[in-house]
Formats: sequence, C-alpha cells, structure tokens
Amino acid sequence: MRSLSLFRVFPRFTPTRYYSNSSSLSFEEHREAFRHKSTWELVRALAVLRMCSVQPLVDNSLQLMRGLERVGGETCLRLLLKRTLYAQFVGGETPDELRECMHKVTNAGMRCMLAATMEEDIGEKGCEAVYRENCRRILGAIDMSSGNCPSPMIQLKLSGLLPARLLLQIGDCYLAANCRQRVVEALAEGLVGKSVQMDPFENLIRDDQEALSRAVGRLRDICMSARQKGVRVLVDAEFTYLNEGLSALALGAAAAFNSSIPVVWNTYQCYLKEADSRVRIEQELLMERLGVCFGGKMVRGAYMLQERQRSQRLGLPDPICENYGETSENYDRVISFLLDRVGPRCQFIAATHNEHSIRLIIERMENENLDRRFVSFGQLYGMCEQISNPLAECGYAVYKSVPYGTLKEVLPYLARRAVENKSVLEGARKEHALLLRELRTRLRPF
Ligand SMILES: Cc1cc2nc3c(=O)[nH]c(=O)nc-3n(C[C@H](O)[C@H](O)[C@H](O)COP(=O)(O)OP(=O)(O)OC[C@H]3O[C@@H](n4cnc5c(N)ncnc54)[C@H](O)[C@@H]3O)c2cc1C
Repeated sequence: MRSLSLFRVFPRFTPTRYYSNSSSLSFEEHREAFRHKSTWELVRALAVLRMCSVQPLVDNSLQLMRGLERVGGETCLRLLLKRTLYAQFVGGETPDELRECMHKVTNAGMRCMLAATMEEDIGEKGCEAVYRENCRRILGAIDMSSGNCPSPMIQLKLSGLLPARLLLQIGDCYLAANCRQRVVEALAEGLVGKSVQMDPFENLIRDDQEALSRAVGRLRDICMSARQKGVRVLVDAEFTYLNEGLSALALGAAAAFNSSIPVVWNTYQCYLKEADSRVRIEQELLMERLGVCFGGKMVRGAYMLQERQRSQRLGLPDPICENYGETSENYDRVISFLLDRVGPRCQFIAATHNEHSIRLIIERMENENLDRRFVSFGQLYGMCEQISNPLAECGYAVYKSVPYGTLKEVLPYLARRAVENKSVLEGARKEHALLLRELRTRLRPF
C-alpha cells in the first residue's frame, strides 16, 4: 500500500536510465523530476515558488524580512523562514547541514557547486579581517567539495576578497595598459608566489599596491588549495564596472594554475553585447598566447535592471542586448564557438535554466559525439528539478549552485538573488504545474 505520509522520504536514489539519448529527453516528466523528493519537500517547493511569483513580495522581500525581525525578533524570523524559503534555496548554516544537503544532491545523481554568500559593492565597507574570513570560508568550501563528486566545482565571488574600489583600479590598469597580457602575467607572477610585478600598476598609490599584494595572496591560497584538492574555482561575473578587474584576476589565476587542467574558470555574461568578443579574446589569450587551459561558466547574466539603470543615470551606452531574443542568440552563438573547441583543454559549464539552449547543446554534443566530460550544466539549488534531473539521468554532469551561510547572512543574498533572477522565478510556472501534478499523483488514494 502506498504511504501518504507528508514526511515520507524516498530511499537512496540510484540513477536509472530513463533517457537513452537526447531525443527521448523530456523536461515535462513530473515523476522522474521529483522522485527523490519527499512529499513535504514538494509541498514546500510549491508554496515557496508560488510566494516567489508574487512580484511585490519579491521586490520588497528584504524590507519585509527586516520588518518581521523587528516585530517578532530573530526567533520569529527563524521559525518562519528556516524550514521554508531558506531550506528551499540554501544548503545550510553549519557544516553538518551543508553535508546533509550535499548528500541529497549527490544521491539524486547531481553535483554540488558551493557558493559562499559574500559580496561587496562600491561604497560598502569591507576590511582586511572580513576578506580574511571570506577567504577562510572559501577554503572550507574547497575542503568540503573535495572528493564529493567527480570534478568538484565551487563558485568564487572575488569581490568578497578585496575592496571594490581596488577592483576598479585593477580594471583600469588592465584596460589602460592596452596590453591585457602584461597585466595578466604580472598578476600570475604574484599568484605563483613571487611578488606581484608592479609596473602595470604603477599608478596605484603605495597603500593600494600593498592591498593588491594581500588580495593576490588570498587568491593564491584559494587556487593552490583548489588545485591540490582537485576542485575547480569558478569566478563569478558581477557588475560591468567590476568585471574588468575580476577578469584580470581570474585570467591571472588561470595563467598561473591552468597549465594541465582548467582549475580557474571565468564567467561570461551573454546579456552583454560584448560577450562574444570577450570570450574569443580571453580564450585566445589563455590557450594560444599563454598556452594554458580555458574554462568558462556561461550565463545570460543577473544584473540587467541595475546595469540599465546605471547606464541611463550616467548617460552611458546600454551594455545589455536590446531584448531577450538578442541575449539568447548571443548565448547560443558563444556556446557554439566553444563547442567548436571543446576538449580537455577547453571546457565550459552552461549555467542556465533555458530548455532551448540546453537542447541545442545536447543536440550538437550527440550529433558530433563530443565528450561529456568537458561540457556540464548548472542550475540554482531549489529550482528547475524538471531540467536538472533528466539531464543527470541522461548521463550529463549537472551542478546545482548551492549557497550557504547563516540565516542572517543569507537573507540579503536571497532577496537580491530573487530580484535578479526574477525571470527564472517567473519561468517557475512550469515547475509549479509539474509539482502540483506530482503531488496529486502521490496523494491520490490509488
Ligand atoms: C550555476 C549558476 C551560476 C551563475 N553565475 C552567475 C554569475 O556569475 N554572474 C551572473 O551575472 N549571473 C550568474 N547566474 C545567473 C544567470 O546569469 C541568470 O540570471 C539566470 O540563470 C537566468 O538565466 P537563464 O539562462 O537561466 O534563464 P532565461 O529565463 O532563459 O533567461 C533570463 C535571462 O535573460 C536575460 N534577459 C531577460 N530579459 C531580457 C531583455 N529584455 N533584454 C536582454 N536580456 C534579457 C537576463 O540575463 C535574464 O536573467 C548563474 C546562474 C547559475 C544557474
């Protein structure tokens, strides 16, 4: 007799091949998509996703959470959010909680990509102690990820390791030097343990040069540990005004650590008009000129609204594609460029929830018999199980991006991500319908 218990937890998941190839791959199957979820988890997902589709709630989520805390205190906030919103999208507060979450993901045939919640924007004050603590957390994530799955990956928000102001200056030097390679090589020198060659950074005052050396030291610790433990470090892309500095550091780290496998990967936001040329320039710089491996996390991009507001405010040209169709064309074109080159020394992860883009990639991989070890897929934890599960079932490497941190640390992050990922949440309508269908099937008495 089938159990109707809300708290029924499904037994350890053993991947069974439902899908022998992409032509039978379906993103509409509720049974397969949710078969490793307990009924309680389905109810929670349904409630949380429905809540996240209410626009005023999403837009004002941080203020609402803060208001709730003011009125009811932290206990009230915890009571309401820990087992709902937090549990849906976040890996955990303690190493034990995080380990449990990682087990669940692994048992469902997928892989975890830990993403420590940290970031700094211009004007937000960081200090060396905060950067050191962030570095310690990243090293912890590397330790936890090591050996957890084949080719483990972590996400790195570099803006949590150095002042945003300094990132801007590094970016300026990278552009002003008009020789990206010089800046990348100077940073790479520092990253392998020598002192950073300061000639491309001669415009920086002494204090900033020292801060740069300290930041490079932290990045070195992270990359060395990652290489030693077989973990890949995926540097997140952020706002365009920070991205040149982020790229310079990511490429410096790639130049220093990617000699035989891609340890450090940069992220490419395909909503940017310049994405195509950026990928070509960086791939050529790393692979042709510096002779190291290339790794790329390919995303559409999360900061569209802020980017547009900023360019309008400053009277600058809008860096974002005219419309969604152009972003998608850009995404598929850049991926196609990489698929032409994919191999042990050129790898990428398609971090997207877009079914069409995913199908295009799979079609080409199967038609051309491309090696699945070099292309993987990524989705946010708590979202789009109907995509992640069939892909994993089909034998593709699927990484769930798992943020973690204490409830209070993560709430602002969740609120920001909810606004940035509005389109994903809006697209959750299909997931919603599938969740409902699965719940009806489970709760129907025979
Ligand atoms: C594992 C993982 C890692 C990620 N890392 C990063 C990162 O480092 N940096 C980052 O910025 N984002 C990152 N993201 C978020 C990502 O960029 C997208 O915001 C999110 O995945 C939605 O895009 P999609 O392809 O999944 O979905 P879709 O719904 O197909 O696309 C939505 C996206 O299309 C674009 N878009 C929507 N409307 C328009 C329009 N009118 N004009 C132009 N473009 C439009 C926007 O980029 C929007 O986010 C990551 C996502 C994942 C899953």
